[in-house]
Amino acid sequence: MPRLIVFGRQGAGKGTQCERLAAHYGVPHISTGDMLRAAVRDGTEFGRKAKEYMDAGRLLPDDIMVGLVGERLGASDATHGWLLDGFPRTPGQAEALGEVTGDAPFDLAVDLDVPEEVVVERLSSRRVCVECGAIYSVASPPATPGVCDRCGGEVVQRADDTEEAIRSRLADYAQQTEPLKEWFDARGKLLVVDGNAPTDEVSAALIAAVDARLAP
Ligand code: AMP
Repeated sequence: MPRLIVFGRQGAGKGTQCERLAAHYGVPHISTGDMLRAAVRDGTEFGRKAKEYMDAGRLLPDDIMVGLVGERLGASDATHGWLLDGFPRTPGQAEALGEVTGDAPFDLAVDLDVPEEVVVERLSSRRVCVECGAIYSVASPPATPGVCDRCGGEVVQRADDTEEAIRSRLADYAQQTEPLKEWFDARGKLLVVDGNAPTDEVSAALIAAVDARLAP
């Protein structure tokens, strides 16, 4: 079972595509954003701290994220493979990758590539279920306004999908995460997939490209 990293600009469609990719390979979908949002919902001390960073559209400190991911990858469902969504996203996190993945390094890092102007438009119209994370948009809302089709949870705009937070997150991406492309490429592990197409087309292309790269 593969060990995959998926990165890309906020709003590139990572959440949906990662769910599909993880289901295709039968590996757990480990999204650091989802883990942090769950901690916020649970109202833990850690969740309250995380919320301050997230609402401002700022990244949490590397040491906290490395600890969080290391612990999650140690769980029994992640023994044979995993899909990491949203980590690493700074040079410091990439350097710590060996620490968190242990003896089994990752197989491939997929960049889901969508231009900045397109993601700004997508993010400002995005709506999400607070319970299960299902993603909707102003153009394709749930059948009952504000109620998730999948689980009945509340569908809202993320606090970090405001224009100001979006700008801050995209600036962080350009400064911190974009340079990781070179880091992955230098290790022969980078795969760039065009994410600027209808969702089903992207899924099919993504799975075909990953399958091809993982083939022995
Ligand atoms: P996401 O859903 O991946 O866009 O993540 C939402 C927010 O969670 C980010 O804007 C950060 O505040 C925080 N976050 C998620 N993953 C990381 C990470 N690897 N390093 C630092 N902060 C993170």
